Amino acid sequence: MTADLYLKNGRVVTEEDVFPGGVLVSGEKIVEIVHGDKAVQAETIVDLQGKILMPGIVDGHAHFNQPGREIWEGYQTGTMAAAAGGVTTVLEMPLNSTPPTINRKELTHKREVVANKAVVDYAQWGGFVTNNLSDLDDLHADGVIGFKAFASNSGVDFARVDEDMLYAGLLKMASLGNLIGLHAEDDFVTQYLGEQMQKAGRTDRASWCESRPGKSELEAIKRACFISKVTGGNLHIVHVSIAEGIKAIDRFKQEGARVTSETCPHYLFFEQSDFERIGPAAKCAPPIRTREEREELWDCVLAGLVDIIGSDHSPCTWSEKEKGLDNIWKAWGGISGIQTMLPALISEGVHKRNLPWQALAKMLAANPARRFGVYPQKGGIWPGADADLVVVDPERQWTLTTDQLFYKNKHSAYTGYSFKGAVESTYVRGCQVYHDGKIVVSPGYGKLLRRLSNCQVS
Ligand SMILES: [Zn+2]
Repeated sequence: MTADLYLKNGRVVTEEDVFPGGVLVSGEKIVEIVHGDKAVQAETIVDLQGKILMPGIVDGHAHFNQPGREIWEGYQTGTMAAAAGGVTTVLEMPLNSTPPTINRKELTHKREVVANKAVVDYAQWGGFVTNNLSDLDDLHADGVIGFKAFASNSGVDFARVDEDMLYAGLLKMASLGNLIGLHAEDDFVTQYLGEQMQKAGRTDRASWCESRPGKSELEAIKRACFISKVTGGNLHIVHVSIAEGIKAIDRFKQEGARVTSETCPHYLFFEQSDFERIGPAAKCAPPIRTREEREELWDCVLAGLVDIIGSDHSPCTWSEKEKGLDNIWKAWGGISGIQTMLPALISEGVHKRNLPWQALAKMLAANPARRFGVYPQKGGIWPGADADLVVVDPERQWTLTTDQLFYKNKHSAYTGYSFKGAVESTYVRGCQVYHDGKIVVSPGYGKLLRRLSNCQVS
């Protein structure tokens, strides 16, 4: 049998290994991993000339704001940016779209609205809010890959859950085999400190950071992990910004709790002084931490304690950012970052801190695929998997300018920064979707995925 596509002469990255070789693709699937420079027949042969060939990223955390806030992003521009960033599967969040995806009716509506828009594959999160416990079964049956919940105020029309509700939700997860993804910051502390700062007339950027201290994140993480341990329900803590939080989750995991951690590229790339200089485009919650805290977080990544890195791409219009230029409290919190996640991690991780490529394959692809139940169709380079692949030029140096951004709103905290390592091509199910600065498929190529399997804890 002649294969359709042979990507040859690359450096193939898997969770375990990096080796010279290539990948053979037939139809939408990987059929063989080739070691070395073997001559194989194929309809199309692409010589990678020693560049990196890694698994497509499964981004477990992105907000595309559709339906309802399409002026902020939408599935078409969001997945175009994803493709340009080497992301081949997006797991899209239930909030910041409006109405939020908290029941079957809204999930069905979302799927209708976003059909034929995406250029990479996608699945959806459901939302778990204070009064929809009885809707979770329907959402699970319809294939959501997790349930997002907030311990603190979300800032939009998406009610936080109290700890009794979190308990009930995690009990349900134990029976469904699904998971809750929690924004873990303490609501009382962050609310109180936020009010105090604003009453005192603080408008400066540091006041945002001071109102959301790492300790309040740590406490919320520990309490939620405790509830997960008691109930046996799967819990995934999203966007952990502090090393102590990652270590606490790891300790609970060692004790048998079904808990996992996610951090985001912006906590590894920026430090608080960058946020104070950049301003609203780098505002997020939890906030960007100090240089020392960032380096401690890197130590956790390098030690293998972080399960998943997700983009938490959370875009908005420039006007939502601009109004916070002189008063940080008025700006929308969220960083546009799905397009730059991989280059940021290659620059800061692989090149600056000796992060192995294998660790990227694990945290960006295999672990999220296993955790969110799209494994083994997605998540890595193995025979039978979808041929979701990224070609990276690891040495190319470049600077991000706004005209390169595929986002609907062309702003990002990363604009003006230089990177070493660039995405050259992205393949989804054997088809090239992005090459050299351009999207090369039509919207609608990307397919809807549903949860295939129960959550694994890596
Ligand atoms: Zn988010």
